[in-house]
Amino acid sequence: MKPFRNIQKIYNPPPFHWVGNGFKVHNFFPRAIESNDRMSPFFLLDYNAKIHYPPSNEKRGVGVHPHRGLETVTIAYHGKVAHHDSAGNGGVISAGDVQWMTAGKGILHKEYQEDSYVKKGGDFQMVQLWVNLPAEHKMTEPAYQEIPASKMGKFTLPGQSGFVNVIAGEYMSVKGPAHTFTPINLFDIRLEKGASADFEINPAHNTSILVIEGNVEVNESKVAGLNQLVLFENAGQHIKISASEKAIVLLMSGEPINEPVYSHGPFLMNTREEIIKAWEDYENGFFGELED
Ligand code: MN
Repeated sequence: MKPFRNIQKIYNPPPFHWVGNGFKVHNFFPRAIESNDRMSPFFLLDYNAKIHYPPSNEKRGVGVHPHRGLETVTIAYHGKVAHHDSAGNGGVISAGDVQWMTAGKGILHKEYQEDSYVKKGGDFQMVQLWVNLPAEHKMTEPAYQEIPASKMGKFTLPGQSGFVNVIAGEYMSVKGPAHTFTPINLFDIRLEKGASADFEINPAHNTSILVIEGNVEVNESKVAGLNQLVLFENAGQHIKISASEKAIVLLMSGEPINEPVYSHGPFLMNTREEIIKAWEDYENGFFGELED
């Protein structure tokens, strides 16, 4: 067995903030890990821990806003999220589904809790990741990939003790459907109580896991509890995740993009000049049109 990959740190969720009026999120990175590139190619992780909403007629979410230079990846665990963008794409995701939007050279979108879910109420839990694009692809055409749970690669763990749903990358020769611009592994891991799963991850890839449900033991040494993020050192390659109780874990891993990062609001570029240009282009209407 290859050596375990050391745990650098286990993070509690930082204080929440609201994105619009629909997403009560804990920003693990860049905020909590205090780095713009420690999890590169992932730039941002906003985590809406599970909350319960009563039935309502409110419109909850975030209205029309731009992005450039990045991809937004939204994963639903409870509740439903609706997305519409200026490239004409849109969709609704439910528990287990993923939306993968490439902003590229510029897009407008809006993100809301879906109407029928809001009317009924219920639990709401989701993740949004921002995936950086390398300089050569920052100005790519906008795109949208809807990845329902049924389209993911699915690896069944021995004895029906759980699943690894492969959103992007590859696990045990099972490939994920997401097109990515740089090497990324994104796994939705579902373990029954007492189950464990082993992962061999390239030591050069920045890697972390987020505990979405239950709690797990990592590398037979440390316990990671509900809503905690485990950041791994970039040495060793074997990660073992064992479920002390029924658990859901998100594993994020990718090859770092070794380029300067300059971020401002919804834009993620390499230089300050490119950020200024992004605002100019946005204000000049180059990002298209979308009604709120
Ligand atoms: Mn957005």
